[in-house]
Amino acid sequence: MENKITGHTKLAALFATPIRHSVSPMIQNTAFQALGIDAVYLAFEVDTQGLEKAINSIRNLEMIGANLSMPNKILAVEYMDELSEAARLIGAVNTITNEQGKLTGHNTDGIGFMRSLQDIEVDIIGKKMTIIGAGGAATAIIVQAALDGVKEITVYNRKDDFYDKIMEKLAYISENTQCMITLHDLSDDQALARDVGESALLLNATGVGMKPLETQTPIQDFSIIRPDLAVCDVIYTPRETEFLKQARLRGAKTNNGLGMLLYQGAAAFEKWTGQEMPIEIVKPIIE
Ligand code: NAD
Repeated sequence: MENKITGHTKLAALFATPIRHSVSPMIQNTAFQALGIDAVYLAFEVDTQGLEKAINSIRNLEMIGANLSMPNKILAVEYMDELSEAARLIGAVNTITNEQGKLTGHNTDGIGFMRSLQDIEVDIIGKKMTIIGAGGAATAIIVQAALDGVKEITVYNRKDDFYDKIMEKLAYISENTQCMITLHDLSDDQALARDVGESALLLNATGVGMKPLETQTPIQDFSIIRPDLAVCDVIYTPRETEFLKQARLRGAKTNNGLGMLLYQGAAAFEKWTGQEMPIEIVKPIIE
């Protein structure tokens, strides 16, 4: 399929740093071409210093919108005209839409994760889940799960800076949704075993399992994994972390973070174009 750039071609962009490794341009441009949408998606090296100007260019250049990644997701909140409920509760923006100069900040990371569960035919609505990690990825997933109707979320984090920072935030998310959310110390093995025992899903939302921690796992006792537990990882490099491998060997349904990556992009694409991303065409190029 050929994509001809014309005087009418619209621009969408990614503002982040580092950026050259990103697969988002491949995902979005493949989708634009497949649907014959006259638009291109480019990656621009932007840090927090340059973010305000970059965001103003969305208005000035009448861009379709933008994606944001590290280190811009939190600061961008200040520059939005409006925020989606998820972006407001998370306190971070990864997608910006532009309606005649009015910029709305969304966060599609959690939407992406929740949609990825359909790929392994897992439904956690009305159920309990346990998440290891309390950083950016975890917060986005916690908020979306709570908004979607997950009944209870137990969050396990080691006692580092994230632990203290997330405590108030989790209370705020819980107060603003119908979801009960509690925070626990990751070193409390007994509590973890109890909560995983009551959960339909166990998720690793830390970087433990990818380089330079690729031989490590976020939990040590895998006897708590049962065949009817879904076990997911936000990591997609490697495709199967040691955590997922151990869970799979105990009969659990597992899923890596590739689906979250793909579907957060699909949700952004759908907000920009009003059209569904052709997943069957886009998925093979990132697998
Ligand atoms: P972050 O820095 O905001 O949070 C890191 C979290 O990991 C914190 O909760 C921290 O306490 C915990 N942690 C760090 N080292 C640990 C260790 N040794 N043991 C236990 N816990 C530890 O990072 P983030 O942006 O939330 O990213 C986390 C992971 O999610 C990364 O691997 C990132 O690549 C991945 N991610 C994936 C997607 C996707 O689309 N699949 C999207 C965003 C992030």
